[in-house]
Amino acid sequence: MKAYDRLFIGGEWVAPAGTGTIDVINPTTEEVVGRVPDSTEADVDKAVALARDAFDNGPWPRMTPTERAEILTKVSQAIQADMQGFAELITMEMGSPVAWGTMAQVFAPTMILDYYAGLASTFQFDEVRQGLMGEVLVAKEPVGVVGAISPWNVPMFIAAAKLAPALVAGCTVVFKPAPETPLDAFRLAEVFEAVGLPKGVLSVLPAGREVGEHLVRHPGINKVSFTGSTVAGKKIGGICGEQLKRFSLELGGKSAAVLLDDVNLAEALPMLLPNAIMNNGEACIAQTRILAPRDRYQEVVDALVESVSAMKVGDPLDPAVEVGPLVAERQRDRVEGYIKLGQEEGAKVALGGGRPAGMDKGWFVEPTVFVNVDNSMRIAQEEIFGPVLAVIPYDGDAEAVSIANDSSYGLCGSVWTNDPERGLKVARGVRTGTYMLNSPIPIDFSTPFGGYKDSGMGREFGPDGLELFLEKKSINLPAGFSPSV
Ligand code: NAD
Repeated sequence: MKAYDRLFIGGEWVAPAGTGTIDVINPTTEEVVGRVPDSTEADVDKAVALARDAFDNGPWPRMTPTERAEILTKVSQAIQADMQGFAELITMEMGSPVAWGTMAQVFAPTMILDYYAGLASTFQFDEVRQGLMGEVLVAKEPVGVVGAISPWNVPMFIAAAKLAPALVAGCTVVFKPAPETPLDAFRLAEVFEAVGLPKGVLSVLPAGREVGEHLVRHPGINKVSFTGSTVAGKKIGGICGEQLKRFSLELGGKSAAVLLDDVNLAEALPMLLPNAIMNNGEACIAQTRILAPRDRYQEVVDALVESVSAMKVGDPLDPAVEVGPLVAERQRDRVEGYIKLGQEEGAKVALGGGRPAGMDKGWFVEPTVFVNVDNSMRIAQEEIFGPVLAVIPYDGDAEAVSIANDSSYGLCGSVWTNDPERGLKVARGVRTGTYMLNSPIPIDFSTPFGGYKDSGMGREFGPDGLELFLEKKSINLPAGFSPSV
């Protein structure tokens, strides 16, 4: 049992303003494995005041980007020194299979930290442009105090995606992790403290949505960086819009994997499957709609069922396990509700649909494959966030693109073919922010990632992710003056 009785506010561990606590429940054992203070609005007020002061008066925004980057490099090194410890902690919080989690939940965040640490020395923060009437210095400056809010499914990955560019930019940050996963966020806070992040620059306040909304509304916050559900994103975007506060949103998805009629299934499925039932299906980029050419439909279904049924379900701390439990009982209820709904809508369960036999503890759901799915069904339109795939037939590449696009979401997607030129045409036709063409890699941290439509606003990663935390200022220069940039 990992218990904290303090919050990380302005770089110090301080007593919370309230008395409430959050229990962290291991989804495999259903036992309480951690307890942290439930942050209150007063804690947010305190953290924002310290972040404001650190931004307005402290050293952090005035240091050079490369000086700030040194902190990120040290954080990355500290995480890498304890990859297993971080991975097991996150698995205990939310059930991610530890083998996958070691790479995606722990190593990937260090790649993000390292990428932004490196970008600090190559990114052009200052640029002299030849304007129409003289030279202009275009300076990119930190946007100010950031309110960062994350979900529980890839907690440290999202923390890194926000903290690394925000900190390199020179911002100060109040970070609210999801109440399901406060322990890894506090471990990360301990690392930042140990490597000497100046006081005031970072606060970590686990809390629920009301306190999150207080952070969003807070007049001391200049920019909100949110990752979570589309429902919450719309609410947050609305608040920020009213206040003309900068914001960026990474939201839900219902991505389509298009198998073209020339696909080699034996080659494609081993790359596609880990992206379809990724993180127990609790992934925004999960390729949960499988679009199969009608004349190869049964062959695709048979191959999928064979591959998915071979996935090992069980204790996510076992490195051989590929599918662990869902994060919470309410999430299992939700997923089971969709499995029932799919059948009521007329789809057929070709695999799974229930709870794995012999597992009486833990919020497990069998990996499930639905066939005879029409794209208009709710199981094809709504984000289930569990290990549930829907196989949808199509006729011709144009219809595949049209079905892929018949979604309120536009986050990710993939196409699988022996003909990359044909695949590229499909990729260009699908309105999503990220795409995989015969590639097992959904996100490259040096390139933009984000959503079209209801999947978000703005792009994280790459220089684009840094720009989210910068304001641009044009300084018109007098003739004959050349500033050193
Ligand atoms: P959620 O929206 O319920 O909660 C996410 C976070 O926002 C939590 O910290 C929560 O406390 C907070 N929150 C909720 N409502 C809020 C409000 N009105 N104001 C301020 N804060 C609020 O989502 P979740 O169930 O934790 O996470 C799953 C969702 O996240 C899925 O929809 C998934 O697709 C999405 N997601 C998107 C990405 C991406 O990069 N696009 C990555 C991971 C997860």
